[in-house]
Amino acid sequence: MKVVVFTIVTFLAIVEPLPACPLKLEKTSVQGALLVGKAPVGSQVRIDDKITRISNKGYFLVGFGRNAKSRKKVTAFIPGGRRIDCIINVKKRRYKVERIDGLLRRMVVPSSEDIKRIRVDNAAIAKVRRLNTFRNDFLVKFKWPLRGRISGVFGSQRILNGKPKRPHNGVDIAAPEGTKIHAPAPGVVVLSHPGMFYTGKTLMLDHGHGLTSVYVHMSAISVKLGQQVQVGDKIGEVGKTGRATGSHLHWGVSLFSTHLDPELLAGKMYN
Ligand SMILES: [Zn+2]
Repeated sequence: MKVVVFTIVTFLAIVEPLPACPLKLEKTSVQGALLVGKAPVGSQVRIDDKITRISNKGYFLVGFGRNAKSRKKVTAFIPGGRRIDCIINVKKRRYKVERIDGLLRRMVVPSSEDIKRIRVDNAAIAKVRRLNTFRNDFLVKFKWPLRGRISGVFGSQRILNGKPKRPHNGVDIAAPEGTKIHAPAPGVVVLSHPGMFYTGKTLMLDHGHGLTSVYVHMSAISVKLGQQVQVGDKIGEVGKTGRATGSHLHWGVSLFSTHLDPELLAGKMYN
């Protein structure tokens, strides 16, 4: 009888979960994911020793890029002097290799004139990705901006006309030209461009704390710079402007310059 009791105690000791992170963060996450944490109001929060924005209700964001390291350290310095440390274990993902052929040579090997234009485009996008506003639209679960076949996934290594390029940093949703695109979350329009070299008609929304989203290759934009949108509002229509072989929406979400996987934010498209 004693042996049995001993076995049960040992078993309980093994399965007893580690204390949860008091910052309401998951203990494990995955590359490409976004977590929302909550610290006591007035704390200072550092992620890998870098100070991050915390809302007046205590919310903050932790994002994991495509190649995020296996552990992320989150520290909160609470008013009164106490300190909380949380370690998040980040699961590695395997990414696909995607080959796309038949693109116009100019779109794969741009001319020096095109490179100038690309630099201007990239600077405008990078500027948006430096925004760090008080908005906290991320407290709402993101929805899909439209439904359709997923024709390109986050993180895949792209080989265009046989040349390895940067990994795909969003999700592609194939849909007929003119299909309505809806705001996946509340936000404010922070970039509206009629024709960028790679991305064509391009729209960006700010959701606060460095979280932005981008809508690429559109045939029409239905909102204006500075406009506030609510989840579900029409923001534009699907197209194939810029570097696109067919009509689709490229949807990207970033935390500052770290690209996140929109599929992880929006969940399964059909459920
Ligand atoms: Zn894409």
